[in-house]
Amino acid sequence: MTDDGVIGEKRVGDKIRCDACPVMCYIAPGRTGACDRYANDNGRLLRVDPLVVIERKREQGGELVSFLGASVGDWDGSLVHPDDSFITAIGAGTTYPDYKPAPFIVSREVEGVDMITVVTEGIFSYCGVKVKIDTDRHIGAERALVRVDGEPVGHVTTGEYGSQMLSLGGVHHLTGGGKKEGRVTCDTLLALCNGKSVAMQVDEGAAITVQAGQAPIVNGVTERRMRVGCGSATVGMFASQWHGLVDEVVVVDDHITGVISEHQAGKVIGWQPTGIKIKGRRSTPGRYFRVADPGTGWGGTNLNDPLLILGDFDAKTAKPGQSLLMVSTTGEQFAYYELDEALRPVQKEMPARLLPSVARIEENCEPALCTVLFMGGAGGSLRAGVTENPVKLTRAVKQQLTHITLGGAPAYVWPGGGITVMADVTRLPENAFGYVPTPALVAPIEFTLRRDDYEALGGHMRHVMTLEEARAGASGPQNEHLLKGRVPAGHKPENPWPTERKHFAWRGPQ
Ligand code: SF4
Repeated sequence: MTDDGVIGEKRVGDKIRCDACPVMCYIAPGRTGACDRYANDNGRLLRVDPLVVIERKREQGGELVSFLGASVGDWDGSLVHPDDSFITAIGAGTTYPDYKPAPFIVSREVEGVDMITVVTEGIFSYCGVKVKIDTDRHIGAERALVRVDGEPVGHVTTGEYGSQMLSLGGVHHLTGGGKKEGRVTCDTLLALCNGKSVAMQVDEGAAITVQAGQAPIVNGVTERRMRVGCGSATVGMFASQWHGLVDEVVVVDDHITGVISEHQAGKVIGWQPTGIKIKGRRSTPGRYFRVADPGTGWGGTNLNDPLLILGDFDAKTAKPGQSLLMVSTTGEQFAYYELDEALRPVQKEMPARLLPSVARIEENCEPALCTVLFMGGAGGSLRAGVTENPVKLTRAVKQQLTHITLGGAPAYVWPGGGITVMADVTRLPENAFGYVPTPALVAPIEFTLRRDDYEALGGHMRHVMTLEEARAGASGPQNEHLLKGRVPAGHKPENPWPTERKHFAWRGPQ
């Protein structure tokens, strides 16, 4: 390698070859490669986005400190104590092929313990996002394809409590379909992970717009509230507040519709039978399944008229004038009825005495949001950038000797084989994700562990540099690219500090 960071035979004319991923772009002077992450800067390969350093005592944002033209060791004027800064992988670059040590292997002392953080922008061909959409509205059948620009990018998966769920991306959409499917899938994942909104269409389902941390938009309507609970739970929660104010309450829900006079919650406080008949499948007293088809109407059913779930009232029990409140699980829809002489419900103006209880349902609904979790597998090759014996890293992670963060944000590591991680994208700094056109997503990943443990698992000890050197723009011999500079990012208070003892099995009593 020449001292300007470029291996000589990797030039073709005035173009230089980037080998940070299998695409191996030849980049002309002043231009960037196919992913826009690397550029030819006067014959030198440059990672164009600055290295993001999280600083504990800083609000979000800050000035770029350029490494270009600076000598390592130059004081940059910043007064941040090393204990309060953490070098993320964002902007660090990727070393490829993967047996090369990761771009940064940084040492530091934390509370008297020598620690190492290995930092790399991992290329994830096996990755996707899990999306939680807080809405009762039916967006499509489970297993229905989700499309962006007409291309399948994932599917509707098992619904959760008050939320619809999508599973998007994954190796089959990235690599197993047509070229356009892979590209659109990669674009979709990148946008979602970087906090952008994406419009999607579910086959035989809804048009939805998803953006991490924002309200979902379903068929053009911005969702406001997440339901308080299923119909049965709502009956249970509010039974005593309705007692004495109305003869019957039905909480309409696509999954479990609740009927207060039959429900255990009503019975224990002396609610009397009303002769009501519900058309759904009775599960247990006062709890009914499948009262209608799923849809975007009342309680996630396809109904705009809740009376359609009622059969005839039993004349032996029901009485003319008997009152009935029907309400949805978010309190957004409600209607009040009284039975006429023929025991038919007739809608009347909502009495003032019942309005507080409906308002209480609404009050108990949390704001509806979209949650986007990045999920990816740190493959054998990525692990080789950390250690010469990748399985030892996997074991060290499982033994809580190695702590994983993504851009400094906490990651959940799945039990079982491999290193499969999940992270809430809103907890990473902005624009933390990139892509390469293989296609695959580029995600920052950091491995933090004790120096002794790193040595024991076969770490690349010759490539370790100090935190101060890394902050000053030093680049290890494994890096064939230069860094543009670094920018500080404020520490998000909801994220634990990445080097805290509590992450490690050796922490001792807390
Ligand atoms: S796609 Fe990006 S990372 Fe891959 S070789 Fe081209 S410039 Fe380098």
